[in-house]
Amino acid sequence: MTTVTPEQIAAAVSLAIAKATSMPYPNEDGIFEDVDSAVGAAVTAQREYMKCSMNFRRRVVQAIRDFTVIPENLHYMAEEAVKQTGMGNVPDKILKNKFVAELTPGVEDLFTEAWSGDDGLTTLELSPFGVIGAITPTTNPTETILCNGIAMLAAGNAVVFSPHPRAKDLSIWLVKELNHALAKIDAPANLITMVREPSIENTDKLMAHKDVRLLVATGGPGIVRTVLSSGKKAIGAGAGNPPVVVDETADIEQAAKDIVDGATFDNNLPCTAEKEVIAVDAIADLLKFNMLKNGAFELTDPGEIAKLQELVMDGKLPRTEWVGKSALSILKALGIKAPSNTRLITMETELMHPFVLSELMMPILPIVRAKNVDEAIDWAIICEHNLRHTAIMHSTNVTSLTKMARLIQTTIFVKNGPSYSGIGIGGEGFITFTIAGPTGEGLTSARTFTRKRRCVLVGGLNVR
Ligand code: NAD
Repeated sequence: MTTVTPEQIAAAVSLAIAKATSMPYPNEDGIFEDVDSAVGAAVTAQREYMKCSMNFRRRVVQAIRDFTVIPENLHYMAEEAVKQTGMGNVPDKILKNKFVAELTPGVEDLFTEAWSGDDGLTTLELSPFGVIGAITPTTNPTETILCNGIAMLAAGNAVVFSPHPRAKDLSIWLVKELNHALAKIDAPANLITMVREPSIENTDKLMAHKDVRLLVATGGPGIVRTVLSSGKKAIGAGAGNPPVVVDETADIEQAAKDIVDGATFDNNLPCTAEKEVIAVDAIADLLKFNMLKNGAFELTDPGEIAKLQELVMDGKLPRTEWVGKSALSILKALGIKAPSNTRLITMETELMHPFVLSELMMPILPIVRAKNVDEAIDWAIICEHNLRHTAIMHSTNVTSLTKMARLIQTTIFVKNGPSYSGIGIGGEGFITFTIAGPTGEGLTSARTFTRKRRCVLVGGLNVR
């Protein structure tokens, strides 16, 4: 005799009800077998969502925040992200997700502009696109789903995620759990969806789908180029290679600590993290001395530096298996013994060294000596490759700070702090893990994911 489980009965009943009431998408957990179903369900959800009040949207945002900060959820997301992607470290991933829950703006980010006069009242309101296709990276798998989820839903959209295949299982878990959390407040089902098997083919289908009105890609140069060639409105949050300049006027002890803290955050995975140091010669030794006091380990033997390059790089590109690994595990693979508190590997190199010019996303931070601050700024611009992403400077000379900020043209410019203060961790301002340098939206928030719509009432409601 075949045994029927209570879950099978429940599924059959819900399918029957859905068929009887001709609801096309009976799933309620956001996970679908194909792109058409994932987008179709999001379209249905978004139509329902448009009937909800702004106050209800606030409750939706709060439900995502509340779900995220539950300690078991924070731990699970961090541990699984490290396990599944093989990148980063648990304590920092806990912090990143927690900050996303606390510092991602919600509905309050949407403001209305208005004009009133003899001819009446005109408002410019920020209105949703509808369904957004959002492609997320392997380096911040849950952080991006959470911060995009809060911002896109605050703005009144539904979202179909296309996560990196390496973070598939965790992304499925998160999308399901977010739908369950939203179901508890009676939000429309499937405001957040994804396909069960993320792949390049499915991402292509998502990008081409007629009901997807906006594409948001957070990832490397390839995917940003792809969304920008889609023929649709697209927001591209791409790669960076953040240089940090230190001049002779800086507080060197503080600069050294900030640099090591920033460059080791989540094992250097954030696109904003310090990737190379350009130090003015006069203070380079003192800076290095203080970096070593803060957990950096210097390689001085050219043979060892070459072996490190062979281990972690394949030509000009980082080897994926070493991206986001700890400094100690990299040194161990090279057979180099280092103190147990080592968090960063450093070495002096020439400006044109591959460690300087490539986005490694590992706790490996080359130091280049420049003869003065002007040369250091020129060299930082070369390292940044005009990506317009992030740069950091340690200096107390306002003229030099202003010069570098003007010339380097990055979306984020941090003065006298670790790189992560640029995304609101220990610096003023909100957080996001989608920093749209190439397309110019900058640090994205709810208002980024809106269309501006003008409503004109002729001849009335001017009370001046
Ligand atoms: P990646 O470019 O390999 O992948 C990003 C996403 O795009 C994944 O979901 C992947 O499956 C998808 N993808 C990649 N190529 C594709 C293609 N041809 N067609 C369809 N889908 C494709 O990047 P990653 O390794 O996951 O993440 C690291 C990169 O992302 C780094 O370069 C980092 O600087 C960048 N990043 C940028 C930001 C930002 O806000 N600017 C934030 C996080 C990461």
